[in-house]
Amino acid sequence: MDTIDRVALHRGRDNRAPTFDVSDDDIIARIVGATPRAAALIIWAVGSTPRAAALIMCPAGLIMWTMGLIRRTLGVIRGSIMCGRGIAASRIHMPTRRRAVFILNMSEHHMTEATERKRALVIGAHPDDNEFGAGGASAKLAAHGWDVTFIIVTNGNKGSHDPGISPYQLSEIREQEQRAAAAVLGVQRVIFLRNNDGELESTFALRAEIALYIRHFKPHYVFTHDPWKHYMLHPDHRAVGFATIEGIVSARDHLFMPGLGQIGIAVWRPEALFLWSAEQPDYVEDVSGFVDQKIAALVEHHTQLDENQEWQTRVRQRMAELGQEHGFAAAESFRKLTL
Ligand SMILES: [Zn+2]
Repeated sequence: MDTIDRVALHRGRDNRAPTFDVSDDDIIARIVGATPRAAALIIWAVGSTPRAAALIMCPAGLIMWTMGLIRRTLGVIRGSIMCGRGIAASRIHMPTRRRAVFILNMSEHHMTEATERKRALVIGAHPDDNEFGAGGASAKLAAHGWDVTFIIVTNGNKGSHDPGISPYQLSEIREQEQRAAAAVLGVQRVIFLRNNDGELESTFALRAEIALYIRHFKPHYVFTHDPWKHYMLHPDHRAVGFATIEGIVSARDHLFMPGLGQIGIAVWRPEALFLWSAEQPDYVEDVSGFVDQKIAALVEHHTQLDENQEWQTRVRQRMAELGQEHGFAAAESFRKLTL
């Protein structure tokens, strides 16, 4: 093990910044992209000055924020002109102040209608968990035009029996494998939080970090591990399950992290949460046309699955059995929580 690895392991998070490969000028993206835990804690603790915190942590934040402000202003002007024409055409007469409010509301309404696209967020502890848990459902949603985002909470740097590979090398390779797998499924983006494998706890900081991503991406569906699964060995699976469930509550209720509301990062309530490997599944998704895609995505995780190919038969059989019970060729099962 080299020095970098020792430092990384000691800190509980590896020395690379988390990824955030989204070309969005939203200021929160910059905050999270810089130092997510620090940002989440500052936002929670200070409440009123996250934008200032962002500027301190990320000098580019000032430029990004200014560009965003210009864009928002232009949007309001454009909306005003469009609605002004509509009002003139229909000869609606309103006092000036009320008319201004009406114009703003109409502008937002049109923008929502024009840009509405369903979104899903799939949150797994390790590279390959999302594919095993919800690979078929992710591929199906993507095929139906959904915007699907993967979050991988740890770097998977303990997932090898090869004594010749360092944890640092392993985490690099596993990110490449995860990106390739996500591409096979049609997933839009993968975000790596890069916590060390096996050392995860469902802390307040992790919960707040996940809440920020939920408020930012506004997913209609969220998928993750069932933390209540009996005899589930891996501690990271439990930690991610709990942090996601708690993060949804923080994202949904306005008195959690109230400073975010003050800067326009509104609450978001996903429609439903789906827990995979569920202790008591109550929802089955027909993924008949997406089995090969799920298998092909899993094949990309060479460090995990090349040693023994038996898993392919096992996964196909399990999906077929689940489907058979409900009249489908193949299925994935979940515990569904309506939020
Ligand atoms: Zn795992």
